[in-house]
Amino acid sequence: MSETQPSFIERAFIGGDWVEADSGASFPVHNPATGATLGHVPDMGVDETRRAIEAAERALPMWRDRPAKERAQIMRRWFDLVMADQERLARIITAEQGKPLAEARGEIAYGAAYIDWFAEEGRRVYGDIVAGAMDRRLLVLKQAIGVTAAITPWNFPSAMLARKVGAALGAGCTMVVKPAELTPFSALALIELAQRAGAPAGVVNVVTARDPVPIGQELTRNPIVRKLTFTGSTEVGRILLRQAADNIQKCSMELGGNAPLIVFEDADLERAVTGAVATKYRNGGQTCISANRFLVQRRVADAFARRLADSAGALKVGDGAQEGVAVGPLIEPAAVDKVERHIADAVSHGATVLVGGARHPLGGTFFEPTVLANVPSEALIFQEETFGPVAPVIHFDTEEEAIRLANATPYGLAAYFYSRDVARIFRVAERLEFGMVGVNESLISTEVAPFGGVKHSGLGREGSRYGLDDYLEMKYVCLGGM
Ligand code: ADP
Repeated sequence: MSETQPSFIERAFIGGDWVEADSGASFPVHNPATGATLGHVPDMGVDETRRAIEAAERALPMWRDRPAKERAQIMRRWFDLVMADQERLARIITAEQGKPLAEARGEIAYGAAYIDWFAEEGRRVYGDIVAGAMDRRLLVLKQAIGVTAAITPWNFPSAMLARKVGAALGAGCTMVVKPAELTPFSALALIELAQRAGAPAGVVNVVTARDPVPIGQELTRNPIVRKLTFTGSTEVGRILLRQAADNIQKCSMELGGNAPLIVFEDADLERAVTGAVATKYRNGGQTCISANRFLVQRRVADAFARRLADSAGALKVGDGAQEGVAVGPLIEPAAVDKVERHIADAVSHGATVLVGGARHPLGGTFFEPTVLANVPSEALIFQEETFGPVAPVIHFDTEEEAIRLANATPYGLAAYFYSRDVARIFRVAERLEFGMVGVNESLISTEVAPFGGVKHSGLGREGSRYGLDDYLEMKYVCLGGM
């Protein structure tokens, strides 16, 4: 396998042109594993954002009104180009985001699956004819909502974007994208392939900026933009919702989580440990659906914690570009500070460190995969999303208590539990206040199922046959005088 550095596109993309910032300013993008500067992207502001919105508006009629089959053909070509270029795109992710290459390849395939899915779903938009009075016919049409905007995070810099652009384009919408300032290269590479696949100028536009605030303001306040889709923190989601309120802009929000993973004493413990490792240490725990709290029934708690610690301790930490590495660096120094704060707080509340617990000898933002035992529910790590490779094990005695602890959070994205009792599986799945529940399975995300949260974890769903709805408006047409 070649160790060559991929090349990076150092321009933004507006109206079909690869452009610099009006001011000529740019900002650097770094590799979190090495600290090296990978390249620069334009540091844009309100004016460029407005131009991108206007380009999306100009492109809208011809994209929206062309046959869904033609849109699907372009999107299918885009999917093929992405998959043909999987290795290069994966290397871009690893370089700017840090995750192990194997995971980065998985992210490319996962994101591409949404493009393919929505190419198909875009051909299956149906309306209704509703029974009315004798002299009239009542029709329900579903139409593309119009110009949309996406603000995406750094943890899945390619897939989070593919999921949004796929749905928008499939529905006949056009889009302005603002990728995370830490990871713009994956977005630019993905959109360049959309252009090569034949997406007309202005259908997708990418604006890059060091400071997201003015861009976010323009995207929410500009009346041309009819819908905003955001993946990121609950805190920023709240700001964007407030801004969007003035514009009565439709919003989809995929926000923070605080996922519980419950292990009941009747569980297959081996499977629970394997699932726990996969959900906790994938992407170094920097996933909004990563299990954040491990609730384990007292009788099996020690055995589970010990096995989890053995597995976590065996994970190789290092630069994600190196073969065999399972855990890459955290994205930035502030992420390490949070992990350390959560561990120190848990220990001060009586938790013990079974494995890890400290920065990795590699330095930088590398952190040891960590398991904490006997963590009380008062600990900070129980309340807040850690977004790092730390698994706190918390004991419970009864099913009732497990459900109460699991739901004791304002978040409601994903939850997991392990049990072999069918009645319990239904009982618990129905009572967990989360948008997604994995039962005896921790890798649950797929383009065919609805992804999204309840409570402070968000609004709307991405993927599945429901995912297009967020990009469509219903129109009721009353046909009278019949
Ligand atoms: P994370 O916790 O994943 O870093 P953030 O919510 O801070 O999540 O960032 C997710 C995305 O939101 C990024 O693209 C970032 O640039 C953008 N963002 C952050 N703050 C704002 C803001 N005030 N307005 C608009 N976008 C923002």
